[in-house]
Amino acid sequence: MTTHDVEIAIIGAGFSGLGAAIKLTQEGVDDYVLLDRGQDFGGTWRDNVYPGAACDVPSHLYSYSFALNPEWSRSYSHQPEIHRYINAVADEHGIGNKALFGSDVTQAAWDEDRGAWTIHYDRDGQSHTVTARTLVGGIGPLCEPNLPDIEGIEDFGGKMVHSAQWDTDYDFTGKRVAVIGTGASAIQIVPQLGKTAGHMDVYQRTAPWIIPRNERPYLGLENWAFKNVPGLQAAIRGGIYSFNEVVAAGMTYAPKALKPVEALSRANIFRGIRDPKLRKAVTPTFAVGCKRILKSNEWYPTLDQDNVELVTDGIARVTETGIVTNDGTARDVDVIVVATGFHVTDSPIFGAIVGSGGKSLAQVWEAEGMQAYKGSFVHGFPNLMLLVGPSTGLGHTSMVYMIESQLNYLVDYLRKTRSRGIVRTDVTKTAQDEYNRGLQHNLRNSVWVNGGCASWYKDRNGNVTALWPGFTFNYRNVTRSFDIAAYDVKTADQVGASAATTAEPVGADA
Ligand code: NAP
Repeated sequence: MTTHDVEIAIIGAGFSGLGAAIKLTQEGVDDYVLLDRGQDFGGTWRDNVYPGAACDVPSHLYSYSFALNPEWSRSYSHQPEIHRYINAVADEHGIGNKALFGSDVTQAAWDEDRGAWTIHYDRDGQSHTVTARTLVGGIGPLCEPNLPDIEGIEDFGGKMVHSAQWDTDYDFTGKRVAVIGTGASAIQIVPQLGKTAGHMDVYQRTAPWIIPRNERPYLGLENWAFKNVPGLQAAIRGGIYSFNEVVAAGMTYAPKALKPVEALSRANIFRGIRDPKLRKAVTPTFAVGCKRILKSNEWYPTLDQDNVELVTDGIARVTETGIVTNDGTARDVDVIVVATGFHVTDSPIFGAIVGSGGKSLAQVWEAEGMQAYKGSFVHGFPNLMLLVGPSTGLGHTSMVYMIESQLNYLVDYLRKTRSRGIVRTDVTKTAQDEYNRGLQHNLRNSVWVNGGCASWYKDRNGNVTALWPGFTFNYRNVTRSFDIAAYDVKTADQVGASAATTAEPVGADA
């Protein structure tokens, strides 16, 4: 067992954790460590290597504002390019030597006597501990694959692969394939597998709304202009951002205004599928926007292929050789692709983060609903800042924008607490409750509440806890400065000497 003391520990080296590390470095804060169970930067963009993996937010918007990339090769980026981009940004900012890759955090508990977080992690087959005054959770909502609770799923004797744990060595050519799920991942995987599979059954529980994807490669001249014409890339980025905010307004305040999106999606079905019965089967029955609006030109034509069958009967069970639906039909397959999403509101890491009252985030959220203050701090979890925490998710634009808003909040939290000698910061229950009442009030007319769908945007109590309601520039405003009045704060003198001496001051006079 080895022990280190650092001022800040960041868990996760995806867009949010890396962003935090870069901001700390820019602030002159060097006394931090970055823990990630993977082998390089990228988070979800490192792990999701399924065929066709790509982003449905345009490339110019899906990047850090401080690291625009004039070299994007396409209007929408694919996973390998985003993964390369994130690692290039990490290199450029010299973050590599701060990251402890291969570190799987098993528990992080607030130690009141020490005034710090004790973080246990496994690395190279050994248990390690690091204590940190502040813990930054850059864990991301899309990191724990969710295996569906289907009878017999463990008994399947063929190959089974989750979209987020792809086996790149497995050859699907000529195979009988079943795909469970029709969400954002499945609609990218299915067209790719459909090209070579012998036969493919696509199990659809709920038909999604899918609009065309206007993806194209950039011409050399365009990349030249992005690089050399001052302000061009920023202007394009601003244009995409503004357009998306109009969609946010529709989703939050006036779902009926999204009718043109529905029309676009219906036209996409009409264009992609010839068979009227199949067209009907893929037409959603809930309001557009209630679940993520997907983008694909290939999904519908693939379902219309001779080697593909859309199965809309519910799955009764999985057998050793295939899948049986509720109507009793058995379809044998060689491989089952599970594209059923992630543990968003019930991620196992929530059970491993234990606050000042001895309860884990999972226990607190189980009892009170999944809540934080400004998506960042949770009452009873001092000095813990969550990135992409509750009510910060988006269905319409780039998460990187939200992450950068939170990074402003993180930096200001550090500045204000440092300058005042504060060593313990806990958001008050009153501030947190009031904030969340406001959020739920803002959600009352939204499509996520009234759109007639079940989605991972909701927690087990049915409250929409994953999404930010409204314009993202409002979130930028609420996170612009660290509003210390909403927190119970204590200086070193107030908590006692032991807590004060655990670690050096942040950034040691940077
Ligand atoms: P998802 O959107 O949650 O979709 C899961 C799919 O699995 C849904 O169709 C769901 O059906 C189905 N499903 C779940 N349990 C099932 C069961 N027991 N039986 C049958 N079907 C079942 O998951 P995802 O596609 O992995 O995407 C997750 C999130 O990742 C997205 O919302 C998005 O935020 C992100 N993502 C983004 C991109 C991008 O382009 N930026 C690409 C991929 C993923 P129901 O609809 O009936 O629940």
